[in-house]
Amino acid sequence: MCGVYISWPFCSQKCTFCNFASGVRPADLEARYRTALLAELSRNEWHELPDTLYLGGGTPSLMPPAELATLMAAVPGRPWREATIECAPGGLTDAKVQAWRDAGINRVSLGVQSFVDLELRRTGRRHNAAMVERETQMLRRNGVDNINVDLIAGLPGQTRESWEQSLAWVERLDPPHVSVYMFEVDADSRLGNEILLGGTRYGAGDVPSEELTAELYERASAKLEKLGIARYEISNFAKPGWESAHNLKYWRREPYLGFGADAHSFDGASRWQNAEDAADYIEQQQPEKYPSRDTEERFFLGLRLADGVAVDTADWQRKGDTFERFLADGLLQQSGDRLSLTPRGILYSNEVFQEFLES
Ligand code: SF4
Repeated sequence: MCGVYISWPFCSQKCTFCNFASGVRPADLEARYRTALLAELSRNEWHELPDTLYLGGGTPSLMPPAELATLMAAVPGRPWREATIECAPGGLTDAKVQAWRDAGINRVSLGVQSFVDLELRRTGRRHNAAMVERETQMLRRNGVDNINVDLIAGLPGQTRESWEQSLAWVERLDPPHVSVYMFEVDADSRLGNEILLGGTRYGAGDVPSEELTAELYERASAKLEKLGIARYEISNFAKPGWESAHNLKYWRREPYLGFGADAHSFDGASRWQNAEDAADYIEQQQPEKYPSRDTEERFFLGLRLADGVAVDTADWQRKGDTFERFLADGLLQQSGDRLSLTPRGILYSNEVFQEFLES
């Protein structure tokens, strides 16, 4: 059974540490994106039923519940073994959680990052520890016990003492799953870029050293272990039986399908990825692009089969040069109107498939 990932790259603020292709975007882009996403989901031929679903981003918890339910209704396989929504703390209501439950959500991942006000403010986050506590209780009273708390080690101003405060809050809230990430300095986040440039904006001058960040991570690992929340992946810790079934698919190389901007897919052998930028993704999903996308998929999947794929005149007009090149290189062979991989082509199949994905 496969997993399904749906990307919602919209947020109410751009956090300084974030290196995802997400952020604050115009409302009309959001509406067009939703239409494109629904089209991509509805067009998919489900060769196997998903048993896990993950709504990430971005901040999918900002989506109006009715629209979220419409997207989820386009995914077969319910009740899913696990259906997660990523949530920025601070905006939950009982009605919203109930609507998520009705739509099939049974796991919520809270992007807490820190329980310390000063650290949160400097990253651009608007919640505080009391809100997270309130919302954890709200989730539980509405039947969502499967809760993840995200923490980041290495935020500006973080100290051993402030990290202990965050860990004490984790103990108090007792979630069954915790993710601990170490802040990565790269040019894709505003904070990382500022550090690389030697500046001081976003608290860049106050970021803990690599050694201290590693120590904070080790401290979290030891504390969580003591609480019965054991590490099962570098950044992920869970009580026994509460490991994320969806995320385990990534690490176990099991198949998953990604929908939306920057979403990745893996069918068990090959990987592919949607356009990273939301506007480019919308463009990619326009109806006039469907025929070429369908052709891509027909070749991508058909060439996996021993008897290959039937090729018509239109295919030869569009991709004739590519076919001729692979035939000449001994990667493809022709039998009647069908093309298939040669034994050598099987060895280089990813290169061949790539050519069709880029068409
Ligand atoms: S960290 Fe989360 S909420 Fe903040 S900008 Fe990135 S995706 Fe959005």
